[in-house]
Amino acid sequence: MKDLRAPRGTEDILPEEIAAWRRMEEVARSLFELYGYQEIRTPIFEDTSLFVRSIGEHTDIVEKEMFSFSPAEEGSSLTLRPEATASVVRAYLEHGLHKSKKFQKLYYIGPMFRHERPQAGRGRQFHQLGVEAIGSYDPLLDVEHIILAREFFECLGLKGFKIKLNSIGCPKCRPAYRDLIKKDLEREKDNLCADCQRRLDRNVLRVLDCKEEKCKEIYARLPAFEEYICGDCAGHFAAVKEALDENGVDFTLEPHLVRGFDYYTKTVYEFVHPALGARDAICGGGRYDGLVEEIGGPPTGATGFAIGMDTTLLALKKSKATQEREKGEERRAVYIASVSEQTKHAVFALALRLRKAHIQAEMDFEGRSLKAQMRQANKQGAAVVLVVGPDELAAGEVTLKDMATGLEEKVALNEVVERLRGKQGQEKIAR
Ligand SMILES: [Zn+2]
Ligand SMILES: [Zn+2]
Repeated sequence: MKDLRAPRGTEDILPEEIAAWRRMEEVARSLFELYGYQEIRTPIFEDTSLFVRSIGEHTDIVEKEMFSFSPAEEGSSLTLRPEATASVVRAYLEHGLHKSKKFQKLYYIGPMFRHERPQAGRGRQFHQLGVEAIGSYDPLLDVEHIILAREFFECLGLKGFKIKLNSIGCPKCRPAYRDLIKKDLEREKDNLCADCQRRLDRNVLRVLDCKEEKCKEIYARLPAFEEYICGDCAGHFAAVKEALDENGVDFTLEPHLVRGFDYYTKTVYEFVHPALGARDAICGGGRYDGLVEEIGGPPTGATGFAIGMDTTLLALKKSKATQEREKGEERRAVYIASVSEQTKHAVFALALRLRKAHIQAEMDFEGRSLKAQMRQANKQGAAVVLVVGPDELAAGEVTLKDMATGLEEKVALNEVVERLRGKQGQEKIAR
C-alpha cells in the first residue's frame, strides 16, 4: 500500500504547535471584540458563482486557484472558499442583517483554500482571521482596521512589519486609469510575461499583481493611481491619510498596490514583513463599496481585512519573536505514581477525582516502574507527586511529595483534594 500522507499543500498542526495558533486566535478574539466586532461562521464551501461574481472572473484566484467540485446528481458547482469576505457579505444579505441593523461589525477565523504551488507559509489550505465593517462609507473605519491589525501584530510581539497604502479609485474614475495604462503597456507587450499579455486584454489592472521581475520593472514606470482618481475618491484617501497621521500610524504610499480581488474600491493596504522574502504580505485589506450591490443587495459601503495566520507565524519564527510560553511545553501539575499494577485502579480513580476538582492530574499508561514514573513526573514538571501503594491504600492514605522541596508526608485519601487546593496559592496546581 502507498504511504498515506496529508495532501500536497496541507499541513497537520501538531500539539507542540497548537499553543502558538491558540494564542493568535485568543489575541484576535479579545481585540476584535474590544473594537465591537462579533463573530460569524460561514460554510467552508459556497456556490462557485458567488466567488466568480465577487472576486472577479478574470483574476488569478478564479481562473486558476479555486477548488471546485460538482456533487453527483445536483448539477451545481461548489467551491471551497478561497477567502471569506464574499461569504460574509452573502450571509449579511441572506439573513437580512442589513434590515435589523444596517451597520454591522463582523469577524471570522478559519481555513481557506487555493490551488497554488505550495510554498513556506502558503499552503493550499491556509488560515485567515479577519474583520468586515459593512454598512458605512466612513474613511475612519479604514483607519480603525489598519490600527486594529497593527495592534494584533504588536500583541503577538511581531516587530519589523510595514504598512503599504494606496487608493485604487472607484468605477467612475478607474476606467480612465485602466485605459491609460493599457495604452502604455500595449507598446511593451512583447516584454511582458505570458500571463500579463493575457491580462492586458481581459483585465489590465491585474497585471499589477504580477510577481515576475521583468514585469515589475516595467510597471514601476507607470503613473500612480492617485493622480487619476476622482474628487470623491481623493477626498476619502486624504481623510484616511490624515487620520493615520493623527494617530501615529507609519505607512508608505505604494502607488501601484492593487490586491488580487476585483471588488476593492478606494482604500487598499497591505502589511508586509521583510523576513518573508518575495511574497511578504501578512495582512491585506481595503474598501469594497460595490460588493454588496454586486451580489444582490442595496448600495452599501464596506471595508475589511484578512490576516494570514500561517504567514504571521512564519514571520514570528523568522524574526525570532516567539516567546518561551508559546512553545507547547507539556506541564502536568500533579503526577500520581502507582507502586504496583495492583494499585493502578486506585490511581485511576484518584486522577478522575482530582480532575473533577479542576486539578490537572496525570498518571502512567505505559507500564513504567515506580522509579521510571518518578523520572517522568520530573520531566513533565509536576509540582506534586502522589505515591499510591498497597500499604498506604490499606491505611486510607497516599504519600504526597512536594517536588520543589523534596519533602514527603502522608495525607488521608479523603483530604487529598483539600490539601492540594491549599497548595494552589503557592504553586499553581489548578488551572
Ligand atoms: Zn473615484
Ligand atoms: Zn507578468
